[in-house]
Amino acid sequence: MNQPEETLDPQDWTKLREVGHRMLDDMLDYLRSVRERPVWKPLPEQLDQEFDKPLPVAPEGIEQAYEDFMQHVLPYPLGNIHPRFWSWVCGTGTPGGMLAEMLAAGMNSGVHGAAQSAVKVEQQVLSWCKEIMGFPANASGILVTGGSMANLVGLTVARNAKAGIEVNQYGLKSVTKPLALYCSAQTHNSVHKAIGLLGLGRDSLREIPVNDRFEIDIAALEATIAQDRHDGFRPICVIGNAGTVNTGAVDDLNAIADICARENMWFHVDGAFGALISLSPKLRPLISGMERADSIAFDFHKWMYTQYDAGCALIRSEKAHHDSFRVPSSYLSHFERGVASGDAWFGEYGVELSRSFRALRIWMSIKEHGIDKYRRLIEQNVAQARHLAELIDSNAELELMAPAPLNIVCFRYRPLGFTEEELDGLNKEILFQIQERGIAAPSSTVLNGKFAIRVAICNHRSRFEDFDVLAREVCRIGRELASNDAFDQVREIWSAAD
Ligand SMILES: *Cc1c(COP(=O)(O)O)cnc(C)c1O
Repeated sequence: MNQPEETLDPQDWTKLREVGHRMLDDMLDYLRSVRERPVWKPLPEQLDQEFDKPLPVAPEGIEQAYEDFMQHVLPYPLGNIHPRFWSWVCGTGTPGGMLAEMLAAGMNSGVHGAAQSAVKVEQQVLSWCKEIMGFPANASGILVTGGSMANLVGLTVARNAKAGIEVNQYGLKSVTKPLALYCSAQTHNSVHKAIGLLGLGRDSLREIPVNDRFEIDIAALEATIAQDRHDGFRPICVIGNAGTVNTGAVDDLNAIADICARENMWFHVDGAFGALISLSPKLRPLISGMERADSIAFDFHKWMYTQYDAGCALIRSEKAHHDSFRVPSSYLSHFERGVASGDAWFGEYGVELSRSFRALRIWMSIKEHGIDKYRRLIEQNVAQARHLAELIDSNAELELMAPAPLNIVCFRYRPLGFTEEELDGLNKEILFQIQERGIAAPSSTVLNGKFAIRVAICNHRSRFEDFDVLAREVCRIGRELASNDAFDQVREIWSAAD
């Protein structure tokens, strides 16, 4: 034995401690000064060379690795921790959440088995969620990576509970009637993805048209279900939206709950961000009916501002949930004593077996701030969305493109005398410039065929004045571009791109 035994622990803990403290100080400074930096900047081309370097065979050491991080990684983030980042539906994270993340990483609990504190923490977080969402205490749930996975979990249980056969055992080849599911045409693509993954075929998901508030047309939903029954399908599930991704529209969840009860269908709610307005007695009536769902999917990393990634699936029936994911195996036996004791094995309630201790940052954040702080922040974001919508409404150059009932505002710059096509090109260019100049980071969508600048506010750092900046800068850049010469160039760029 002349090879020394090896480990990945440091030889010099004192030196590691120094580096570790430096990292902590650097990151706290970084968070504290976030408002002073541009929201986003384009990645320089030289960066590719850095990331083309060969696989390191010999050690470079943690200090060098950290140096590389500081130079090549930290300066080019997505930008979602910034107060003027409003793209897609991204949360900001918190300094306390960063520290909790470090603690969880230190423990590095694989959340296997049940005889460990991490499981207790997750169960308590789930209990709090049930309370917040108005679900019974004996309901089931699991923390997952995000809304996409939570939709997949909820829809898996829906399929298995309502298919009329043991789908896990016999597969969809054995269903007697083809299954059909229903959602509005504004539903998030993770639902379509889940339906595909579940082997149901994306064409079994009926996209029901929406009204002018972008909410599901209930009469069309009922008519489609009736037609499907007549045509020999088995309608099994309606997916309701508590906050659509495009505009924050909320479907009539009570009407959907009534239909599902009458038709013996599963009622799933995609509440990725909107479910959390349950925290606000003032806003909660907007999502009334969600508490009647069979399953709810939502995220902590959006409107609870926690570090990525953290979502949650709540399932009313513990049995249906467990039946969907439990596969008894000798190597995962439960015992009455020892490491494998206890009953709440989360691997039996979701897709993943090995899971991170993501519950800790949620648990610690709620303890740190108290749940009422989150209520106030959510109400603040909704008030900010109203403020922006009012700015837009009162400005003749800007046009609000959809009602803004929650925290999402869609609008465009609209000078007179431009065709729809030109307005699309003009607003795209405004969006790019706002982002590339580091001013703010809204994203975009298309509503009724028209390009819209889209602002989604899941940001505890945004201030009302940040929205004044956005409205002002959109108009300033818009005016700059719409002045004849400049816009001719834009027109050329856009016609060349087509
Ligand atoms: C973000 C979002 C999802 C997907 O959630 P992820 O956490 O990104 O996986 C699903 N539905 C809606 C309405 C969303 O906004």
